[in-house]
Amino acid sequence: METLNQLLSIELNYIIIGLIVVFFTIEQVVTTQFNYSKRPHHLFNNALFMVVFFIGNIFWAAFAVFSIEWLYNQHIGLFHLIDLPVWLKLILGVAMIDMVTYWFHRMSHRIPLLWRFHRVHHSDTSMDSSTYFRSHPFELIFWFGTSNIIAAAIFGLDLVTLGVYFLVGTPFFIIEHTNLRFPRWVDKTFGLVFTTPNIHKVHHEKDQFYTDSNYADIFILWDRLFGTYQYKPAEELQIGLDEFDDDKKQSFWYLIKSPFLNVKRVNTNEKLTTDQPELQIIKTISQKHLPQ
Ligand SMILES: [Zn+2]
Ligand SMILES: [Zn+2]
Repeated sequence: METLNQLLSIELNYIIIGLIVVFFTIEQVVTTQFNYSKRPHHLFNNALFMVVFFIGNIFWAAFAVFSIEWLYNQHIGLFHLIDLPVWLKLILGVAMIDMVTYWFHRMSHRIPLLWRFHRVHHSDTSMDSSTYFRSHPFELIFWFGTSNIIAAAIFGLDLVTLGVYFLVGTPFFIIEHTNLRFPRWVDKTFGLVFTTPNIHKVHHEKDQFYTDSNYADIFILWDRLFGTYQYKPAEELQIGLDEFDDDKKQSFWYLIKSPFLNVKRVNTNEKLTTDQPELQIIKTISQKHLPQ
């Protein structure tokens, strides 16, 4: 427990910066998964998101710490009613935060107002470790920030559990977005329980059938359990959103404004369905040969 407390006392921002430096360096030296046409432009815009992320985090962290501590002291939440060993409460607590985040994420795809903010994260057409930061600040603070407090209120979680969640989760959040090739066997083993980079990249696929899948950050078990798991080989993926597939729409300022603009969703899945030649053939046959 002493070691754990020491680990948690390390400023999370240092861990994030450390991981970004490591993975960003690796991305420069090995063969990457995606090619960029305008890498400096991409980095510049995501770096601006990074600045907003760190500033937003300062305010959110203070509010979350205050709220979770208050809830815990009031004995609010399920874990106050059951007697479990500390280590089990910790593991279950991390899993429960991940599950609540799964539902918040799923709602962000289903509720049009939330999607306006969440699509900023999906707008990146060439992913690398900096994509992790590409989120609209309103979404980070008011929506995903709240998910941890809600999880704490339902399950009675303390600050140590929240700290462990971020300690375990942050490497996942960053590695999932790296522009590196990961072998298929990682998905077939580790990917049975955890979200692997290839599995998360399926979530960034343009085709909405895949965009609306694999919502979990740490435990892909939630998608398997709630019926939203999908798989597509990494080499077949097309990343981003058609409606943001334009240099102008990849800039920081445009993306910050974008939730307040009417950007129509180009549903690639619908487009594919009507354009699929085999479906056209079936349609023609049924029109010609089936009784009307
Ligand atoms: Zn999403
Ligand atoms: Zn992502």
